[in-house]
Amino acid sequence: MTNIYPQIVSVFYSLLIIFSFCLKKKIRSIENKLFGLMIAGNFIGLLLDIIAFILVKNACTLLITHFICKLILIYLLLWIFTMTVYIYVISYKMSYSDRQNEKKKWKKYSNFKKVIISLEIIGCLICLISPINVITTNNNAYTTGIANTMIYILSAILILFWIVIMLINNKNIKEKKFYPIYAYIILGLFTSILQFNYPGMIIITPVETFITILMYFTIENPDIKMIEQLNIARETAEKANHAKSDFLSSMSHEIRTPLNAIVGLSEDIASHEALPDEIAEEANDIVSASHTLLEIVGNILDINKIESNKMEITEVPYNFREEITELAKINGTRIGEKPIDYQVHLAQDIPYELIGDKIHVKQIVNNLLSNAIKYTDQGSVSFTVKCINQKDICLLIITCQDTGKGIKAEDITKLFNKFERLGIEKTSTAEGTGLGLAITKKLVELMGGTINVQSQYGKGSIFVVQLPQKISQMVELHPKQQEEVEFLKVDDPYQNKRVLIVDDNPLNIKVAKVSLKDFSFQLDECSNGKECIDKIKGGAHYDLILMDIMMPEMSGESTLTELKKIPGFDTPVIALTADAVSGAKERYLQVGFKDYVSKPFTKAIIKEKIDAIFLEKNE
Ligand code: ADP
Repeated sequence: MTNIYPQIVSVFYSLLIIFSFCLKKKIRSIENKLFGLMIAGNFIGLLLDIIAFILVKNACTLLITHFICKLILIYLLLWIFTMTVYIYVISYKMSYSDRQNEKKKWKKYSNFKKVIISLEIIGCLICLISPINVITTNNNAYTTGIANTMIYILSAILILFWIVIMLINNKNIKEKKFYPIYAYIILGLFTSILQFNYPGMIIITPVETFITILMYFTIENPDIKMIEQLNIARETAEKANHAKSDFLSSMSHEIRTPLNAIVGLSEDIASHEALPDEIAEEANDIVSASHTLLEIVGNILDINKIESNKMEITEVPYNFREEITELAKINGTRIGEKPIDYQVHLAQDIPYELIGDKIHVKQIVNNLLSNAIKYTDQGSVSFTVKCINQKDICLLIITCQDTGKGIKAEDITKLFNKFERLGIEKTSTAEGTGLGLAITKKLVELMGGTINVQSQYGKGSIFVVQLPQKISQMVELHPKQQEEVEFLKVDDPYQNKRVLIVDDNPLNIKVAKVSLKDFSFQLDECSNGKECIDKIKGGAHYDLILMDIMMPEMSGESTLTELKKIPGFDTPVIALTADAVSGAKERYLQVGFKDYVSKPFTKAIIKEKIDAIFLEKNE
C-alpha cells in the first residue's frame, strides 16, 4: 500500500491547484492554456495510477489492467510533449497580441505544434498497439515493453531538446519562469534512474504534481500573471503618455507662434475706430475665433500640466469682486440674442482683498459661467457668490445655476472626465473640447476646495464650488486715502520709459509693438541676443526688455546670462515665449527673468505683467 501514498497525497494537491486555477480571473495567454492542460492531465494521471493499483490489489482481469497501464503510458507521453510546447512558448515569448506583428515567429510555432501533434499521435498508437508486459509485485504493478522503452528514449530526447531551446535563448535563461523547468529536468532524471532500477516505484506522476505546484507558485499563478500584464500595460501607457506630452509641447509651440500674430493683430484691427461696419464685424469675428482657439490650446496645455503634476498654484493678493464682476460682464456678452435672464450677485461680506491663485480662480468661474450660458437656450442663468469668513480664511461658495439642457443622471459621473462631451452630436455647433470641467475639478481640488453638481435632464443644472482663500484685507481703503492714491498715480507711470523688444521674427516684433501701443513707451527693437548685448554694452539704457526665448545662435536664456555679467545691469527682463509647457515658467524665473509671458498673449495679459513691474518699482 505504501507505494500509492504519494499519488493519494498528490490528488489533494492537484485538486487544490485545479480549483484555485479555475476560479481565479486569468489573462488570455498560451502558457495559461498549456498549464491548464498540464494540471488536468496530471490529475487524470494520478487517478489512473490509483486505479491500476486497486486493480492489481484485487487481482482483476489482465485485460483491464493492461488497458489502464497503456493509458498511463499515453498520459506520460502527452504530459512530456505538452511540457515541450510550454517551454517553446516561454522561451520564444509567444503571445496572442503579437500574432499580427510577428507572423514569421507564429508560422514557426504553428509548424512546431504540427510536428509535436504528429509525434503524439504516432506515440499514442505505438502505446496502444505494442504489446506490454504487466509485472505485478506484492505492492504494485509496472510495465515493460516497446512502449516503455520508447517513452524513456523520447523523454531523454525531449529533455535534450529543452536544454537546446533554452541555450539558444540564453539571454532569458536566468529568468524566474525557467526555474520549475530546471527542477523538472533534475527531478525527472533522478526519478527515471530510480524507476529504471526499481521499476516497482511509480513516482513520476507525483513528481509532475510537485512540478505543477512549483509552477503555480512561481510563474503560472494567475494573480502574478495579471500583475505582470498590468505592469506591461502601465509601462506602455506611460510611454504613450510621454509621447503625447512631447507631441503636445511641440504642437503648442508651433501653433502658438502664428496664433500670436492672429490674436495680436486682429485685436489691433478691431480697435480702430474708423472702420467700415462690415470690416469691423469681420475683425471682431476673427478676434472671437482666435480667442476660442487660444482657449483650446490653453486647455490642452493645462490638462497636460495637471496630469504631469506640474500645475502650480500661485498666490497673489487680488480684488475678488472687481475681477469676478468684470468676468461676469464679459460672459454676459456671450448670451447674445438668447432670451436669458442673467443675474449676478456677489455677497456684501466678501473681503475686499483675498490672497489666492487669481488666474485659476477666474478660470474656474469662467468655465462654470460659460458652460451655463453655452448650454442654456432660454430661461435664466444665475451666478451667486457667498462666503463664510473665519479668522484669516474666507470660504467662497460659488453657485452657478441655469435652466439649460441639464445632464442625464447616468452622465453625471462622466462629467469631470477629460474629453467627455455629453449628448453632444458631432455636428453640434456648441464649441468646446470637453476639457473645461476636467480642468476645473482638478484646479478646485489643488486649491483645497470642492465642486458639486446637481442636474435635471431638460430642466437645468446647479454647480457649486467651495473654495478657501486667504483674507488679505477685509475692507476697502478709506475713500479719502484712495483719492490720495489716485492722485499719486495721476502721472503716467509709463511715460518716457524705454522698452526694448528682442525677437528674431519680424512678425512677432510687430505684434509686440501693437500690443504695447496703448502705453506711452519709447520702443526700440533688435533681432538677436548679440545685438541686444551690444546695445547695453554701448551704454543704452532701458526700463524693460521683452525677450524672445527661441532665437537662433543665442537663446533668450543665454542672452540674459550674458547681460547679467555687465556691471550695473538691472533692467527687468520678461521672457516672451511660445514654450508654455509644464515647468517652463520655473525654468525662466530661475535663470533670472523677472516674469514670463506665453505667446500668444492678449493686450490685457501684457498690461498686467507690465503693471506689476512698474508699479512694484514705484512703491
Ligand atoms: P465642453 O463645454 O468644452 O464640452 P466641459 O468639460 O466644460 O467641456 O463640459 C463637459 C460636458 O458637460 C459638456 O460637453 C456638456 O455636455 C456638459 N455640461 C457642462 N456644463 C453644463 C451645463 N451647465 N448644462 C448642461 N450640460 C453641461
